[in-house]
Amino acid sequence: MSDPDKTAVIIVAAGRGTRAGGDEPKQWRELGGRTVLSRSVAAFAGYRRIILALDPDDMARGLAEFRGKVTLIGGGATRAMSVRNALESLASSGMTRVLIHDGARPLVSPALIDRVAAALDHAPAAAPALTVTDALWTGAGGRVTGTAPRDGLFRAQTPQGFHFPAILDAHRAHAGDAADDVEIALAAGLDVAIVDGEEENMKITWPADFARAERMLKDRMDIRTGNGFDVHAFTEGDHVMLCGVKVPHGRGLLGHSDADVGMHALTDAIYGALAEGDIGRHFPPSDPQWKGAASHIFLSHAAALARDKGYALSNADVTLICERPKIGPHAIDMAAELARITGVEPDRISVKATTSERLGFTGREEGIAALATVTLVRT
Ligand code: MG
Repeated sequence: MSDPDKTAVIIVAAGRGTRAGGDEPKQWRELGGRTVLSRSVAAFAGYRRIILALDPDDMARGLAEFRGKVTLIGGGATRAMSVRNALESLASSGMTRVLIHDGARPLVSPALIDRVAAALDHAPAAAPALTVTDALWTGAGGRVTGTAPRDGLFRAQTPQGFHFPAILDAHRAHAGDAADDVEIALAAGLDVAIVDGEEENMKITWPADFARAERMLKDRMDIRTGNGFDVHAFTEGDHVMLCGVKVPHGRGLLGHSDADVGMHALTDAIYGALAEGDIGRHFPPSDPQWKGAASHIFLSHAAALARDKGYALSNADVTLICERPKIGPHAIDMAAELARITGVEPDRISVKATTSERLGFTGREEGIAALATVTLVRT
């Protein structure tokens, strides 16, 4: 199974990108208010080990933009050497897989990344590609000199995924540069699976590509809001699970799963933003396998569904409503746990609490209620 914690990401951005024009390398130019490179890096949110190969002249800039988020490494004289440096830096990291991506492909979708990662369950290497649909010619001096068959031809994209030891060995055995890492994998005899690429996953190369990428970004602009509400009644027990944190209490919460009312509200908010129903649709209470289930399974599923549909969790705000236990001392841990499960930075998640002034069922301490609001942004 693909595991983001065992899969490293290498983003290659050490080239000078002179063909794209402009005053600075294309990876540092802005696209829709962010640098091309920051978009390429952000596409791999959820992966904890990201290595960014930069030209040594760009290190200060890289530190300013990415400090604490990625590991920077000096690129080599060629693309292959940059990748090799990055692979060697991971040699004793325990990573089992690696995804290698061009920094100049900022519009790569989460779904495409997931397809490559999943294909590595069945092949030592996998890469996205598009079939060639235009007729192919040869030409010289402004004249067509012949035609070429397009059958069996593909346009290669990235990220290209590999079992880590296999691609490290392949790079060590390879002399000279290569157009991409599939070329190096093939030279080492690796079997490379082809997965569906996407037109939007263009490599910014020429000046006109910036305008095209800007148009694609505008088409994507899509912001969604969802809300969730949940209630669980108190029962006998010595703790409650709230937002993934075990809080000692003189009572427990009654429920089919672990009754984590805060996590359920957040999960339903994400499903709601996606118009994907609620927890009950995806994890029917009638199914005994979810009895006593840890609620992070539900939240992980909702977060993955959002990612697969091309949305990032921009922020979430969870309010717990109870007289007791006191939430304040645990709120930061709760937000951190929700952030960990959803794969976002902790400052995008808020957990707060209120009482209902001793009114109603929460005021009488018959149960705990929670509500959550989320904003999802198409990436
Ligand atoms: Mg519930």
